[in-house]
Amino acid sequence: MSNACRTGRIRGSRPRRTGPGAPPDTFPGVIVLDGAPVAKRLGEEARAAAAGLSPPPALTVFLLGSDPASQTYVASKTRAAREAGVRADTVRLPSGTSPEALRDAVVKASRDPGVDGILIQMPLEAGHDPRRVLDSLDPAKDVDGLHPENVGLLHQGRPRFVPCTPAGILALLDHYQVALSGRRAVALGRSELVGRPLAALLTARDATVTVCHSRTRDLPAVCREADLLVAAIGRPGFVTADFVRPGATVVDVGINRLQSLEEAPENLRRSERVVEAIRTKGRVLVGDVDFDDVARVAAAITPVPGGVGPLTVAMLIRNTVLAARLRRGTADSVRRSEAT
Ligand code: NAP
Repeated sequence: MSNACRTGRIRGSRPRRTGPGAPPDTFPGVIVLDGAPVAKRLGEEARAAAAGLSPPPALTVFLLGSDPASQTYVASKTRAAREAGVRADTVRLPSGTSPEALRDAVVKASRDPGVDGILIQMPLEAGHDPRRVLDSLDPAKDVDGLHPENVGLLHQGRPRFVPCTPAGILALLDHYQVALSGRRAVALGRSELVGRPLAALLTARDATVTVCHSRTRDLPAVCREADLLVAAIGRPGFVTADFVRPGATVVDVGINRLQSLEEAPENLRRSERVVEAIRTKGRVLVGDVDFDDVARVAAAITPVPGGVGPLTVAMLIRNTVLAARLRRGTADSVRRSEAT
């Protein structure tokens, strides 16, 4: 991380213009958008809201198989839930569990009056259709916001449960006072988990949004139009400075685990942090953005880890508390999420 990096608010930095394909200018003093203080505040708010509910909100997490990354995510989600005063149970289903057995377990939890929120940890193993599993979930307990009813509400501009990662990105941008109205935003990635719901949220906030994917032509040029670039593609260090308009804000959603320099793309092999972490720990977490390169031109950038990740967890807890309040009649039946 460069010495010029600092955390704080973005002070009305208007992007400088570059011609298509032109080498990027440098932009002095990038701001690092640290997710930790925002997640802490959201956690405290959730804790205060949960404390007003008896019995406490209850979250059930389904974990299928033994994928190490999924196990880590579930452990950090349930730990954060408990810290916020939310009861969190993990239902572990062995690898090879049939789609019918998984759906039966989800239906059972959906019918259980003691369960307020349900999360099905993705990705599922091959052979499972995530849409069929999500269809079997009670939409009133869908704290990940992926059931078609919640997706529809979001796209109609009256969200109930907003998917946690895009909701967290909005909370982060609002915390650092990143202007959205009238700005050009590019979502790099069109998944149902991140890119698509993010596009709906940014559109609702009056940004002009382009969604890119693996078939997008002239990808760096399209990304360079963005005042706000959000990368969620699962490709380590893919976004380099030539994707970024000088003065843009860059949000890195990607979480990629590298265990050797051979797994790293050429550009990341030059990163001191990557080289050092692999040498000393034998592994490193990197985003979809080449941080060192992009920090030379962006006005603001999220780190990996420590940027979007903590907010995804915080939003899950927030959604679980909201689910409990909605089910118990202490919130409007369908209301705008406070996250938007
Ligand atoms: P996903 O479902 O695999 O979707 C990836 C998207 O990226 C797809 O739309 C794909 O395009 C696009 N893409 C892939 N390669 C591309 C390329 N070379 N050029 C342009 N577009 C490309 O992934 P996801 O679930 O959205 O996750 C994306 C990343 O975010 C992963 O690293 C994941 O681990 C991370 N993530 C982090 C958090 C967090 O809390 N920080 C939460 C969720 C996900 P097509 O549609 O054309 O295939």
